[in-house]
Amino acid sequence: MDSVLTLQDLGDQRPAGTALAVLGHPIKHSISPAMHTAALTQMARSEPRFADWTYRRFDVPPEELPAALITLHALGFRGLNLTVPHKIIAFDCVHSVDPAARPIGAVNTLLWTPEGWHGYNTDGYGLATAVAEELGRPLAGARILLLGAGGAARGAAVECLQQRCAGLWIANRSADNLRQLLALVAPLADGIPVHGFNPQHPPTDLPDDLLIINATSAGLRPEDPLPFDLAGVRHPAGVYDMIYNPPQTRLLAAAAAHGVPNANGLSMLVHQGARALTIWSGVSVPVDAMRTAARRALGL
Ligand code: NDP
Repeated sequence: MDSVLTLQDLGDQRPAGTALAVLGHPIKHSISPAMHTAALTQMARSEPRFADWTYRRFDVPPEELPAALITLHALGFRGLNLTVPHKIIAFDCVHSVDPAARPIGAVNTLLWTPEGWHGYNTDGYGLATAVAEELGRPLAGARILLLGAGGAARGAAVECLQQRCAGLWIANRSADNLRQLLALVAPLADGIPVHGFNPQHPPTDLPDDLLIINATSAGLRPEDPLPFDLAGVRHPAGVYDMIYNPPQTRLLAAAAAHGVPNANGLSMLVHQGARALTIWSGVSVPVDAMRTAARRALGL
């Protein structure tokens, strides 16, 4: 079950039991199968109906995604997770979208319905739950500095505003992408101040107590630059880095060196996955089993 499959491997064979899957390209580093399989194994001990639920991973190039979604729906897959680069493409392929996911323009969780796929985005929930759990801070009422303007930042910015943060500052390297994100979230602000800037040139009047969320990919590789110099904020309330591999980025190391509460993105990954499994199963799911399996899959 842990191997990487293509749709050709599946053919027109309806899978036995209740099938779930993650689609991505590349997909071989995904730890979602380990997390979901651990949860389903535990759930089956108390509820035998979960004993035949399985979670596969498919490598699907983006140009094949629309056809893949049609095929997997026809084969009766109960639910799908979507990861890079499919979240935005899928938004236009699904039959219907959860209202909370509409402003994001991207979906990461699909539920089978007779009419077609119903799309959700569980990344924002994952982020909000992880930040509250790890840093003890709700997004609601916080002054937030969001680093990045890509897909993950888009979901994070929408979540911050939907949760009614007190203010949102967005910093991004490329001015064009920053402008696009600011335009996307402007209709959601509803009185919340939203500002954008280049992280190399932070404004001098940034609030002292910003909660900093890194949604850039700067930090995935050891040679990456810091996405933001923490010296620009006097007493950061905390630093959450969506990156979880490596487990400590330069940004998190800098936060730790300054005694600032900090956490990596593993908890977000776990909580977005737990929410997806709840959507598919209709029951609450064992988050601790998912966390343990995720850590083990990463060799932690
Ligand atoms: P995108 O490719 O859509 O966006 C990348 C962002 O990172 C852009 O804002 C880009 O800036 C910025 N960036 C890239 N390289 C650098 C650099 N060297 N210096 C400064 N900024 C840089 O990626 P995603 O938004 O999908 O993902 C971003 C990160 O979030 C990834 O590391 C991903 O693994 C992580 N993630 C974690 C999740 C979790 O569950 N923990 C869930 C989703 C994502 P520019 O616009 O200037 O190019």
